[in-house]
Amino acid sequence: MDLGEGLRQALAKLSHATIIDVKVIKEFNKELQKTLISNDVDVSLVLGLTNSIEQKALKSKPPAGVDPRDYITNIVYDELSSMMGGSYEPELKPKRILLMGLYGSGKTTTAAKLAKFYQDRGLSAAVICCDVSRPSAYEQLQTLAAQANVAFFGINGEKDPVKILEKAFQALSGKQVIICDTSGRNTLNEQLIEELKRINAKFNPDERILVLSADIGQVAGKLASEFDKNAKITGIVITKMDGSGKGGGALSASNAAKANVMFIGTGEKLSNLEPYDSHKFIGSLLGIPDIEKLLENIQNAVKEASIKPEEMDVTKLNFEAFYSQLQALNKMGPLKNVFGMLGVSDMPKDTIEKSEEKLKKYKVIISSMTKDERADERLLHQESRIRRIALGSGTLEKDVHELISDFNKMKKSFNLFKNDRNMKRFLSKFGS
Ligand code: GDP
Ligand code: MG
Repeated sequence: MDLGEGLRQALAKLSHATIIDVKVIKEFNKELQKTLISNDVDVSLVLGLTNSIEQKALKSKPPAGVDPRDYITNIVYDELSSMMGGSYEPELKPKRILLMGLYGSGKTTTAAKLAKFYQDRGLSAAVICCDVSRPSAYEQLQTLAAQANVAFFGINGEKDPVKILEKAFQALSGKQVIICDTSGRNTLNEQLIEELKRINAKFNPDERILVLSADIGQVAGKLASEFDKNAKITGIVITKMDGSGKGGGALSASNAAKANVMFIGTGEKLSNLEPYDSHKFIGSLLGIPDIEKLLENIQNAVKEASIKPEEMDVTKLNFEAFYSQLQALNKMGPLKNVFGMLGVSDMPKDTIEKSEEKLKKYKVIISSMTKDERADERLLHQESRIRRIALGSGTLEKDVHELISDFNKMKKSFNLFKNDRNMKRFLSKFGS
């Protein structure tokens, strides 16, 4: 059974459930465990995953209008994506990239694909052949580089990669993205480790990428942590996602090396490379191609639920919540319309404009806060933090103070929000 099929079945069972209780979750988790383990995800990792799914699922109820099945899917999605990282957005700036991996994992092909990827986006790119063990490595990369129309450097027959690198920098000077392809073996052995260490020291890469084939199997986690131990992995590329492997090993690998998935190889052609898209990847893992839409619906439902004042717990009110209220307010359209919806049509234009400006400023200020500060407003009693936030958001300290004072006002009046009139009153005070 492939990864997607098992999860699809487990999720299908959930749609018959009307409530989510321990029994339902345990049953779902058992199914999830079976599938993940049979698809090469590390056992302890699977147990950790299902544990936190259980905790999360039982801690809170699905918001009104959300199907339990969708709700659990959302939780599973969050857990998986926190393991593999969110979608990857490649930074378009000069960099050196080192590719590592076992023999046949797709390193050489990926080197040319990556060079093409960056060159297509306006950066001049080059590849270096530092695979000194495979006889035809030089010709293979040379041919691929020509196909990709990127620069190539190698020394045919040279057995010392450091000597190749010494000459490469000069030959490739001016190239913005330089990608180094290395030797692979059937396993990670002493000799390969030694070679990688020397290449690492000489090449001094910004990114050290482990290339893994989607069908790697149970060894993925162990392999990734060994590569990481010896060469500090910064990211993972999964190749051959177009084949039979479903990338289950990638989960273990990225968890073991604490490295996010960056790119996915989807075919032999040089254009078959995509930045990792968590919606797409996890969606196909779970067998829900339109997971993006589903998550959006859930998030909207959660938002709608959270805007109901009677469900608000005033003790939990922090800047994070304040921020999402501002966001929700924003979604409702220009403030003029919001006032209109609340039946306040006679608000002076000036006041509306001022409020709008203030809201915008507040959003910028809150984005400059650390996670801890957003969660606990008391941290902001320190002037040094206020200074830092003002500086970071390009506002004045007085603006930050004003936000805190408005926030505290909101906190006080929150309990009064139980009817619309008070809401109106609060909003109308906002611009004053
Ligand atoms: P290396 O030994 O790690 O350098 O691996 P290669 O780059 O030589 O690739 C090994 C084989 O896998 C070649 O036949 C490639 O064409 C093939 N390959 C690499 N990436 C992909 C991919 O994303 N999809 C498919 N279907 N084949 C791939
Ligand atoms: Mg190769």
